Amino acid sequence: MDTSQETRSQITKNIRNTIQLLGEDVEREGLVDTPKRYAKAMEFLTSGYHKNVDQIVGRALFKEESSEIVIVRDIELFSLCEHHLLPFYGKAHVAYIPNGKIIGLSKIPRIIDVYSRRFQVQERLTTQISSELERILKPLGVAVIIEAFHLCMMMRGVEKQSSYTITSSMLGAFRDDPTSRKELLDLLGGLGGSRRGNF
Ligand SMILES: [Zn+2]
Repeated sequence: MDTSQETRSQITKNIRNTIQLLGEDVEREGLVDTPKRYAKAMEFLTSGYHKNVDQIVGRALFKEESSEIVIVRDIELFSLCEHHLLPFYGKAHVAYIPNGKIIGLSKIPRIIDVYSRRFQVQERLTTQISSELERILKPLGVAVIIEAFHLCMMMRGVEKQSSYTITSSMLGAFRDDPTSRKELLDLLGGLGGSRRGNF
């Protein structure tokens, strides 16, 4: 279900107002269609509220006896911080140890999108992704690590441009078994991918 026409026109009106309150001329060429564009953009950036993880995963769960660590790393991630409605963006690394089942690899980024396209805090986003994977796969272990830059820290507030925030959620063997945890960290080869990345 997408946002209704009525909702979109209400948001458009509100943003028009906001632009005016900030002292701009909403009738000038560059701005006249901005409220409508903004409403559409916000619909997309919050579309995760209307997505269902089980529907997205569908039949992409497969029986598999292997119980070796699976890692999908450097998954691009864009979200909006719920305190300022400004973007935070970076990379997610997801790992799990199968327990009889594996998931189609392309589904992992799509699960991340369901939770990142909302108003978020990085901490909650990280645990929502790990608990969904735990629920769906019942794996021996699951780990989610997110490294992100927060525009609310970079453009305002403390104005720190190069610091980024790392959050992690480790469940099962990654939390309880030092060997699995060490293997994961060795495979990830040290973080800081955000600094080397292209965003
Ligand atoms: Zn913020």
